[in-house]
Amino acid sequence: MKLLRPSDLAELDGGLFVHGGTEVVPLLRDGILTADTLVDVRGIVPRGIEGNRIGAGTTLAELEVDPQIPEALREACRLAASPQLRNMGSLGGNLLQSTRCWYWRLEYPCRLHGGDRCHAAEGEHREHAIFANDFCASAHPSDVAAALLALDARVRTSRRELGLAELYRVPDDADRRTTTLEPGELILEVELPPVEASVYLKAMDRKRWSFPQVGVAAARTGGGTRVALAGVAPIPWLLAGPEDVDGATPLPRSAWKVDVARALVGRALADLG
Ligand SMILES: Cc1cc2nc3c(=O)[nH]c(=O)nc-3n(C[C@H](O)[C@H](O)[C@H](O)COP(=O)(O)OP(=O)(O)OC[C@H]3O[C@@H](n4cnc5c(N)ncnc54)[C@H](O)[C@@H]3O)c2cc1C
Ligand code: SF4
Repeated sequence: MKLLRPSDLAELDGGLFVHGGTEVVPLLRDGILTADTLVDVRGIVPRGIEGNRIGAGTTLAELEVDPQIPEALREACRLAASPQLRNMGSLGGNLLQSTRCWYWRLEYPCRLHGGDRCHAAEGEHREHAIFANDFCASAHPSDVAAALLALDARVRTSRRELGLAELYRVPDDADRRTTTLEPGELILEVELPPVEASVYLKAMDRKRWSFPQVGVAAARTGGGTRVALAGVAPIPWLLAGPEDVDGATPLPRSAWKVDVARALVGRALADLG
């Protein structure tokens, strides 16, 4: 396998992007990802925080301690993974991490792998989605994405600017992808609008180093309050209001997540005041 280290965007020409490698390396090792060329993007993706702009190469460890960063995003980073992973893992890589669905990771020929069955829906799905789960019941694992969705962040890529919500799509028969990023498109920067107050709450199966069972981000801006959830749908999930939780469609053994989501949404809104 070839490793490229471009120093200019103009040098990009295909290949699999890698930043911290905390996701790419295990997937390559397990044969879930394959590539002839690995492109280390650390030389071309901005890193650091300047006012409301965050370079996509900024690590979660840097975000969790920076006072310029709204509370919801800092807390989402602080509660994610382990200190070692947060030191390596970049913001851009976190937004593009793959599902933790155990069937997908074990390479069952499920719908996200191009097959015609959702093994989780028929099998073990205690940790799976309670919204938008009829095609694929995977639960999006990014705390950070839920926080950015509540904060109404915008993303700048090497080709366009888009709202964070537009970065994601619910997979379907015609297109199995969960993001709208095109091959070769690089996330460069995230921009946050002004926020008055924000909060992130997370239910996990132990106190540290655990993906969200349910993560709830709430943010109050001049225009109102936004609430977004992690771990409940194949993509980060924006609620139109707290009553949206009542419209959840859990699988038989993921119904407990609806109660957790309802409780955390109520608590997050109370914390916002
Ligand atoms: C054990 C474990 C526990 C974890 N727990 C949590 C958790 O609780 N909450 C949570 O939110 N996350 C969690 N994570 C995810 C972790 O935060 C991510 O793996 C990390 O942030 C990814 O960043 P990276 O730079 O290492 O990405 P990489 O592994 O380098 O890349 C990940 C993906 O993003 C692509 N990519 C990377 N940068 C860019 C870019 N700038 N533009 C376009 N594509 C890009 C890569 O091609 C790849 O597809 C956990 C991970 C592990 C391994
Ligand atoms: S939930 Fe999605 S990723 Fe998991 S088995 Fe079903 S189709 Fe595959």
